[in-house]
Amino acid sequence: MGRLTGKVAVVTGGSRGIGAAIARRYGAEGARVAVVYKAAAEAADQVVTDIEAAGSEAAAIRCDVAQTSECNAMADAVAAAFGGADVLVNNAGIYLLTTLGETSEDEWDSQMNTNVKGAYFTAQALLPQMMARGGGKIINIGSILGETGLPASAIYSATKGAIKLMTKSLALDLRPHNIQVNTLSPGIVESDMNTEYRAEFGRRDAALLGRFGGDDPWMVPDDLAGTAVFLASSDSDMVTGANILVDKGYSAY
Ligand code: NDP
Repeated sequence: MGRLTGKVAVVTGGSRGIGAAIARRYGAEGARVAVVYKAAAEAADQVVTDIEAAGSEAAAIRCDVAQTSECNAMADAVAAAFGGADVLVNNAGIYLLTTLGETSEDEWDSQMNTNVKGAYFTAQALLPQMMARGGGKIINIGSILGETGLPASAIYSATKGAIKLMTKSLALDLRPHNIQVNTLSPGIVESDMNTEYRAEFGRRDAALLGRFGGDDPWMVPDDLAGTAVFLASSDSDMVTGANILVDKGYSAY
């Protein structure tokens, strides 16, 4: 029996990176998993195959979380496939390197609409299902950049600061419904998202800050999975409105 046996979990951005690692771990812990993706259909199918091979059930569901109508359609698909959701991981996100002098309005809108608006309306779409099931868990993926700055990251930082405080207010709103809402904030994790950052700035910043020596590797997506299981399980029933940093000590400097 896994720690999430009997639960249905929806992981947005479940096709790649951190979301794929969380989706696989949830499956291994017995959850049935909706692997939500925007474009990477093959990668999402592979995550589904891996979860099924490990003995649980999964389904890939396409949804651009920046489009509220698609969030609602995704929730309907989750209900059709699994009967409803107990856990939502709002993980879908984008990170564009931007500088004030050169940023376009599109770059602002796409990051805000995916990282903040998407998380809010995905939660709204799944809320009736959680209420009908007597409670639930919403895990919003924040970032170390919700705590501190990085070069060329002002918009992304703003989205992750917003997620952290949105989480706190939602935690209060949803407490009467037995739905716990928390932020899980990773440090820098090796993924497709930050290839450009790591190549252009990462090592230089790391060296400047003395945070990572030459042999000290970045975290990998699976490093987040254990905490994501905790936040989805009954072990965290008394934890709500919290921001849990899993950052290898980055913020401790
Ligand atoms: P990746 O770029 O590896 O994966 C991003 C995922 O989000 C993909 O599955 C992608 O789906 C999905 N996605 C992007 N836009 C949308 C959208 N509009 N609708 C639905 N899905 C979408 O990112 P990471 O795994 O690195 O990041 C995951 C989360 O963790 C993000 O919220 C990110 O901000 C956060 N984070 C990451 C850190 C890092 O260092 N990597 C550090 C701190 C936080 P598809 O491929 O199908 O398009």
